[in-house]
Amino acid sequence: MGEIDGATLIARSLKQQGVDYMFGVVGVPVIPIAFAAQREGIKYYGMRHEQSAAYSAQAVGYLTGRPGACLVVSGPGMTNAISGLANAWSNRWPIILLGGSSDVSQHGMGAFQEAPQVDAAKPWCKYSAEVDRPERIPYFIEQAVRSSIYGRPGPVYLDLPGDVIGASVDEETMRTPERCPDPPRSPADPASIAAALAALKTAERPLLIVGKGAAYSRAEDEVRAFVEATQLPFLASPMGKGVISDEHPLSVGSARSHALQNADLVFTIGARLNWIMHFGLPPRFAPDVRTIQLDIAAEEIGTNVPAEVALVGDARAVIGQLNQALQESPWEFPAESTWRTGIERKAQENREKTQPLMDSDDSPMGYYRPLREIRDLLSEDTIIVSEGASTMDIGRQVLPNFKARHRLDAGSFGTMGVGMAFAIAAQAVHPDKKVVAVEGDSAFGFSGMEVEVALRYGMPITFIVINNNGIGGGPSELDPEKILPSSLLPNARYERVIEAFGGKGYFVDEPDQLRPALEEALNDPKANLVNIMINPKAQRRPQEFGWLTR
Ligand code: ADP
Ligand code: MG
Repeated sequence: MGEIDGATLIARSLKQQGVDYMFGVVGVPVIPIAFAAQREGIKYYGMRHEQSAAYSAQAVGYLTGRPGACLVVSGPGMTNAISGLANAWSNRWPIILLGGSSDVSQHGMGAFQEAPQVDAAKPWCKYSAEVDRPERIPYFIEQAVRSSIYGRPGPVYLDLPGDVIGASVDEETMRTPERCPDPPRSPADPASIAAALAALKTAERPLLIVGKGAAYSRAEDEVRAFVEATQLPFLASPMGKGVISDEHPLSVGSARSHALQNADLVFTIGARLNWIMHFGLPPRFAPDVRTIQLDIAAEEIGTNVPAEVALVGDARAVIGQLNQALQESPWEFPAESTWRTGIERKAQENREKTQPLMDSDDSPMGYYRPLREIRDLLSEDTIIVSEGASTMDIGRQVLPNFKARHRLDAGSFGTMGVGMAFAIAAQAVHPDKKVVAVEGDSAFGFSGMEVEVALRYGMPITFIVINNNGIGGGPSELDPEKILPSSLLPNARYERVIEAFGGKGYFVDEPDQLRPALEEALNDPKANLVNIMINPKAQRRPQEFGWLTR
């Protein structure tokens, strides 16, 4: 016991609260915190932009269940991180943003980079506070970490004035809170468990929707057991993919629209009926669709569609309750139903339509052939990061997931520019897994400089850019008299960006070059980038209804 400085106390408290990863961009006044974090055993990753640092920290939160820390300087550093807060707010992912700020003793004086940071963080955060006294650092950090993971997860913010970071405190005078345990897993009301099973038994066309709340809750074993016990068909949301394997026979992935439109009862498991699920409303859903909704947030139940049964609680605990009840009184949905056979027929039809696109030798290429070649080379253990409009949408269909929390994408906020940061976070958490980021060319541009971070930390990530010369497709050749807002420079050599840092780049513009380039890249022990030129006019397979792609 003795004197301890603010920076060390911050790092020690974070470590004590189970925060093991920090992403940041250092500068005055937060530099000593980053050094202290390394001394205390926190893995520190220096990023090239605060926005990326914030995206990485929240991906760690989603992947591990403890918030990642994001460390930024005052003023512009903190405001650059706000898109990260917003993305975490929208996804309901935990992150602790630590913003340096001007000295308490200079508040209101027009200090260097002084800004209303606590207020700026507030709309996005479950908790936003200034640490005004160094001896209370452990208190604030415990409070912030707990807020981010208890109840519905989300972002938190702590403002750290320079004179608090630099202060010394007598350890004897401090009260240090205990490590906050992982959140208690609250079960649902037993009456609702019985009601949910009763409702499922009366449905003719029941459908489970598995969202990223189920993935976050680590409910994969329970959900799989539930699906296997009940034989109910399921649809995974974009990041719910992999909670149960996409290749499970009960997955309706290839007949998504058919299943949504015709279901008479949907059971959402950690998935909101927001825009991603077409609000639970017609024309995507039947007008009188019944719902069972499982969510940790009671206030979410009933959004857009009233719930017939509400299961408020932790997904893993609640599905466990359902499984328990089914063990006592087994029930399964009949395999011979027209519902099951209709879904299978539609899925087969859709697969047959897509297959020729995936096998096409056309040059220039469309989306499907490169994505199919990527698919053929990935293992069940690969973590897939994906962003870009069509690249992500089509990639979601073509690239299967086999395990929970093995897919990270633009998410509920539809954010472009998350890909590099998510890939870096995934590799930090899972150093032994292959991480692949499949990016649109525009999406790559938002944070392309972060490839340097992957090389600096020796992360063998494969970045793949599906390049169509623009945002939703650009021109084949630039007309200097008429540069459309959606144009990017045609045939941009993105693979050379990574070469600047010693990574290998691959340029591919013919289908027969795909396999050798991808094979080499995916086995390269260093970060690399494969730039795949496709037809700028390439589209998604024509959809049956216009509103599907709206
Ligand atoms: P998706 O985009 O995959 O459909 P959403 O982000 O819309 O998923 O929904 C996820 C939901 O999961 C959120 O409403 C969130 O409150 C909920 N959730 C988060 N953690 C848990 C948990 N442990 N148990 C149950 N639900 C959870
Ligand atoms: Mg593009």
